[in-house]
Amino acid sequence: MTQRMLSIIIVGARGRMGTALIREVMDSEDMTLGACVDRSGGPGIGQDAGRLAGGPDIGVLVTDELRPRRGSVVVDFSLPNATEARIRACVEQGIPLIIGTTGLSEEDDKLLVEAGQSIPIVYAANFSVGVTLLLQLAGVAAAALGPDWEAELFELHHRFKRDAPSGTALRIGQAVADATGRKFSEAVMTDRASLRRAREKQEIGVFGLRGGDSPGEHTLMFLGEGERIELTHRAGDRAIFARGALRAARWAASQPPGLYDMVDVLGLRE
Ligand code: NAD
Repeated sequence: MTQRMLSIIIVGARGRMGTALIREVMDSEDMTLGACVDRSGGPGIGQDAGRLAGGPDIGVLVTDELRPRRGSVVVDFSLPNATEARIRACVEQGIPLIIGTTGLSEEDDKLLVEAGQSIPIVYAANFSVGVTLLLQLAGVAAAALGPDWEAELFELHHRFKRDAPSGTALRIGQAVADATGRKFSEAVMTDRASLRRAREKQEIGVFGLRGGDSPGEHTLMFLGEGERIELTHRAGDRAIFARGALRAARWAASQPPGLYDMVDVLGLRE
């Protein structure tokens, strides 16, 4: 059998997601670990990727320089501090990019759209298959229920998460706003403490809780007169995001340039 192995370059290799990705690549039959990158001057540099992921040495040492190579896909789950440089490096070499890092700036978002003209990029605030479906269900439910039902959502993540509310929660808010003809910037409300007034009809409350070790829980409520619908997704293990991101990497390797998300990867785009 001469199956071509897909080479994966992991950015943020020493992190919680990076090490989950290393384990998934090592366990796969169609992927190899091309390189592992982490923050310059950080404790991961020079360490063996296998050992970082809790296994034996595999001879791939973590470096601080991203050098995308043909035939590989870059998978970035790090911090948004140098996203621009990483996107530009992939564009220069024509390498597909999977980006799971959340909390990107507006400039980064614009650069992603531009970069999507020349390389395939899959960018998702949440690579879980279940959450991708939740996003779809949120839009369907919001459109079907109409303006008399109020939508509110909350999320819970582990104590180390830096951005709040989560990128996923904001995406769910966006799905509800889009499905009901509301503008995200006007409808989504992430802080009510200073308002001192009752909620307005068009608001979509989006709130983050932090603590413990949960990899992520999201609950969207539709609140009607005398009844309530709750849609909840609970991630039990961050391996689900790693598996989703690698599914996206396999898919992106044979796609034309474009800015995609998990809806495209799962073939759910209408
Ligand atoms: P973490 O803090 O455990 O790991 C981040 C890693 O990135 C660290 O090893 C850090 O040294 C490294 N890093 C920081 N700056 C870097 C740089 N300039 N170049 C290379 N590496 C750099 O965080 P985590 O829990 O693994 O999460 C990483 C990111 O992924 C966060 O933005 C998080 O919100 C996001 N995330 C996304 C999904 C999703 O499905 N999209 C799921 C989980 C986490």
